[in-house]
Amino acid sequence: MPGDVEEASETMELLRGEGYIVVGGGIAGLAAAYMLTRKGFKVTLLAPAQSRLTASGAAAGIITTLMPPRLAELALASAEIIGEVAPESVRRMKAYWIPSGCSDIVEYNVSKRIFSEAPAPPHFSGVDSLYAGSLPVVDTGLLMAALRSEIAGRGGRIVDGEAVEVAATAVETGEGLTLHGTPIVAAGPWSRDLVQTLRRSTVVYRCQALSVRGPPAWMKNTVVIDDEIDFYIVCWERDCVVGDGSNDRVNSVDDGFNPDLDDLLDVAYRASQRLPWLLDATPSSYWAAPCIAALDAAPLAGATPDGVAVLTAFNGAGVTLAPATAELLAKSLAGEASIPGFLDASRSVKPVEPWPPEPFRLC
Ligand SMILES: Cc1cc2nc3c(=O)[nH]c(=O)nc-3n(C[C@H](O)[C@H](O)[C@H](O)COP(=O)(O)OP(=O)(O)OC[C@H]3O[C@@H](n4cnc5c(N)ncnc54)[C@H](O)[C@@H]3O)c2cc1C
Repeated sequence: MPGDVEEASETMELLRGEGYIVVGGGIAGLAAAYMLTRKGFKVTLLAPAQSRLTASGAAAGIITTLMPPRLAELALASAEIIGEVAPESVRRMKAYWIPSGCSDIVEYNVSKRIFSEAPAPPHFSGVDSLYAGSLPVVDTGLLMAALRSEIAGRGGRIVDGEAVEVAATAVETGEGLTLHGTPIVAAGPWSRDLVQTLRRSTVVYRCQALSVRGPPAWMKNTVVIDDEIDFYIVCWERDCVVGDGSNDRVNSVDDGFNPDLDDLLDVAYRASQRLPWLLDATPSSYWAAPCIAALDAAPLAGATPDGVAVLTAFNGAGVTLAPATAELLAKSLAGEASIPGFLDASRSVKPVEPWPPEPFRLC
């Protein structure tokens, strides 16, 4: 509603305070706190010690530009930020992409010389040509450790606690602590428990992956994103992570952790149709974590009509999108720029189909 938008931009003015409390210690919260300390703001980061598997710890770590150009631009900016903060966390990997339509995404990636059309390597099955290039892949554990130390090094305060209530000027933690300042909620799927607006504009779904050991030499340090039969695979030296984007919506965050084994077997089967060596690989583990997406599949950044700001809804692509979106949020809070409309948390969110809005196939 237009009224809501106006209220939210008024809130944005109020939010340009001196001290911020960032709620959430995943990539989004860490990136927000880091960017705010870089702008010279006083920041308290509320980051509970992890007793549960969160998306930031579970991510495969691909920084993908295989998304609509305005999101791909954010991916390039995030890659730059991550390369500055934690160069040790990034490995540039050989990448193969098999698209399914999405001509604007093909054009963007070809024009930026990220991918070019090439004959399929001999180890691929069922495809004659594909797009070859390279993509950065991030070890999210290293990235998050580097962000924490940057935040602390710039005077940010890191509190191990969980919010139970968020108001316009304070956050009550589960430890009976009240923190004063302007809250920015970046608690991933749990943001819905803290900010009313997000219950209407977002959904939570399960994102899952399995790990196999012992990639053949030609697959080491290689990413394959196959949009035609819908899977991705990231192979490091010894392990490969296989996953896809076609997971289920979950009704509550707490029941979103159990992997759907039938679904994972299906992913493995599809991947083996393309890369037959997977049939001989040794499965080693599998996991699931909840992700939050806005109904129109773009992130949500900035003031909400609830009187607090958010940085959330990164879908299955928070490594790719959170750092650059956090920078835009910090710039807007510093009064240097405004948040682009397609990211603005006060926009009217219109649902897109098909569901789920897949991070690697958003067209
Ligand atoms: C299997 C899998 C593979 C993925 N692969 C990729 C990929 O290759 N590339 C990519 O870009 N993205 C990928 N993603 C998506 C990416 O991991 C997420 O988009 C991103 O991690 C979301 O970060 P976040 O900080 O918003 O949320 P989260 O990681 O969920 O973090 C939320 C944080 O908030 C904390 N929190 C929760 N409740 C509270 C509270 N009440 N008070 C205080 N803190 C709270 C949590 O403990 C947690 O630390 C993948 C995700 C999964 C699950």
